[in-house]
Amino acid sequence: MDAKTLYADVIIDVSIDKLDRPFSYRIPEGLSGIICAGSRVRIPFGKGNTEKKGYVTRVRDHVDLDPSSVKDILGIVEGSVSAMDTSFEIAAYIKDTYGGTLSQALKVVIPAKAKAKPIELKTLVRKMDREMILSLADEAGRKKQNAKEKLLRALAENDRIPNSWITGRLRVSSQTVVSLVKNGVAYLDTSHEYRKPSISEIQNSAPVLLNEGQGRIVDSICGDLDAGKRSQYLIHGVTGSGKTEVYLRLAEKVLLMGKQVIFLIPEIALTYQTLARFYAKFGDRVSVLNSSMTPGERFDQCERAKNGDIDIIIGPRSALFTPFPNIGLVIMDEEHEASYKSESTPKYHAREVAARICELSGASLVMGSATPSLESYTAARDGKIKLFELNERAGGGELAKTEVIDLRKELSAGNRSMFSRRLKQLMDEKLEKGEQVMLFLNRRGFSGQVSCRECGKVIMCPHCEVPMSLHTGSKLICHYCGEVSEKPALCPSCGSKYLAAIKAGTEQVEERIRKMYPDVKILRMDKDTTASKGAYDRILSAFSNGEAQILIGTQMIVKGHDFPGVTLVGILVADLSLGVPDYRASERTFQLIAQAAGRAGRGEKPGNAIIQTYQPDSYAIVCAAEQDYRKFYEEEMAYRESAGYPPAVHLLAIQLFGLDEKKTSLLASNLRDVIKSYGAKKVLGPAPANISRVKDYYRFVIYVKSPDITGLTKIRSLSEDHLENSDMNGIFVQFDLDPVNQI
Ligand code: ADP
Ligand code: ZN
Ligand code: ZN
Repeated sequence: MDAKTLYADVIIDVSIDKLDRPFSYRIPEGLSGIICAGSRVRIPFGKGNTEKKGYVTRVRDHVDLDPSSVKDILGIVEGSVSAMDTSFEIAAYIKDTYGGTLSQALKVVIPAKAKAKPIELKTLVRKMDREMILSLADEAGRKKQNAKEKLLRALAENDRIPNSWITGRLRVSSQTVVSLVKNGVAYLDTSHEYRKPSISEIQNSAPVLLNEGQGRIVDSICGDLDAGKRSQYLIHGVTGSGKTEVYLRLAEKVLLMGKQVIFLIPEIALTYQTLARFYAKFGDRVSVLNSSMTPGERFDQCERAKNGDIDIIIGPRSALFTPFPNIGLVIMDEEHEASYKSESTPKYHAREVAARICELSGASLVMGSATPSLESYTAARDGKIKLFELNERAGGGELAKTEVIDLRKELSAGNRSMFSRRLKQLMDEKLEKGEQVMLFLNRRGFSGQVSCRECGKVIMCPHCEVPMSLHTGSKLICHYCGEVSEKPALCPSCGSKYLAAIKAGTEQVEERIRKMYPDVKILRMDKDTTASKGAYDRILSAFSNGEAQILIGTQMIVKGHDFPGVTLVGILVADLSLGVPDYRASERTFQLIAQAAGRAGRGEKPGNAIIQTYQPDSYAIVCAAEQDYRKFYEEEMAYRESAGYPPAVHLLAIQLFGLDEKKTSLLASNLRDVIKSYGAKKVLGPAPANISRVKDYYRFVIYVKSPDITGLTKIRSLSEDHLENSDMNGIFVQFDLDPVNQI
């Protein structure tokens, strides 16, 4: 008797956007019993029956279509490894929780093999000094070589220019680039290798004896592992308390059990210091993923993981999907970091997905932070996560002595500089003694907006509802869309000549510091100086080797680095991040200050941290200065509860974008009514987004609040269905569950 014909649901190769839904195919007799969910198959597609590849998501014994119209699967893709059983479950979880399509979720979960040639990320690096380049630019100008002049002027202002910027925003051809390289003006940096630690760095990280606090954590978690108990843990440990050492021991334990480890770390904190410690312990069983890898390189790492060539993967968010055969442990360092949340659809949070993956694979989840997220700390408070505390620095050394300086008082005492008298005094002292100083400013470039002192007019980007920022010379740049223009000499509104930037950026801090300390070596680290690959590491290792005495920077400098020579950290305007209209503004401010202050005094010598602010009474600043996380948590949680924000409730943000303001707003109002009809109780908006227009697109937001997360995901799913059947008029909609940045 004939076996019953079987059919397969196939998601066509995940790299193609339009084909969101599964298509039905017949499983030919010879392959029945071989093809199962997860198989990688070849199928004919479309009118021309072009051969495509896809994943089987389900095998069934019937189809809803006319069976005679169903095509046959051609075969199994040679040499392919089928998707892990759990991949589909994880993709389905992501789709159900955060929205979007299954195809989008699969793209996140399953690394696609890139056929295209890897794209080299090139950066043009200045070789000649500025003056010479400027004179060459003048010459090119005289000869009417416009492109060349433009590129030269850009190069005079920037040490490094990414190639994408040259061909994109500057619209300069690669021919011009080549000619500059030939003439020795600049060179092209094409490195796309992540720097592996050198042998000497590896040897420097000798194993240490765990202290009592560390030992307690390791014993407790290892005990659970031995007992076959898998669980979730949060290590709340001050900076330098030895969390990384604990992670290393736990990883070692899990490897001994024959299982694998995923170590998540925010991209920005992925430094050679951390890598060196893992390489020292585990050698070539470790591999690293990072966002500057090509899809092909990432795919190769996944293959190595599948084949058992490695046991530990270190990487950002996406490393979570490394297809290890038997995951035993997921570690999430700096678990509070916003970069753990995806910024594109599906907007998943690595913490939640990690918990799901651990559940599916029977692994444990260990999270660590000096400033835990309110989400994790609340879960710990409620007994869902086991909490450990490490209150002292492992390598000895005291936490920095913090002082809050009221900038309003400085001003009234006649000090108009961006450095308070106390900060200046300490800088003098520390530099005199040959110690190192870090200055932190939560901004980049001359990112200050330009406004008229007479009429108050602010120069805005013509395409976005944001002020333009003044950069070196007289260039205005929009940091949202990249629009560049010249700063007008007179106010476009009243004609006044008092048109100036108000606030300082890192570039300006550097300029001032150079004037104050002409003989001191200075490094600056921000988005502009780290645009090229490897630049980030170069600056950090230069500073750590003592090649400079002062490091000026943005957020980037405060994350997880160990500089024993630093004895003073100056936070120039601590409340800059408080003014943001976002329910997480206080949390972010607290974290930034606490982390920045944690950079001082990590060596033998005691450290100082100076916190300059216009709002010395804000609880975020007071608690951070006292390094009192508990007190901050209580204050902040009370606010979230009374105002109704996560984690007290769940929040679904729906964002609508459209070129036509009226139509977008109308669709938004219509959607709000539909959502109300689904029974949602707390629906806010639609309102224009914080930044109400970007790249000419008007943006509206609707917020839905509920303590019940499944209720919210149901509302989202119903809304998606509703929109699919509506006339969208070129309007885009995005869903974001528990956003980390308020839109
Ligand atoms: P965290 O990850 O919490 O910032 P680390 O694990 O990086 O802390 O430890 C900070 C410093 O203290 C490192 O230089 C590390 O080598 C050192 N250290 C960690 N544990 C110990 C210990 N038990 N004894 C001595 N030094 C230690
Ligand atoms: Zn004016
Ligand atoms: Zn713009």
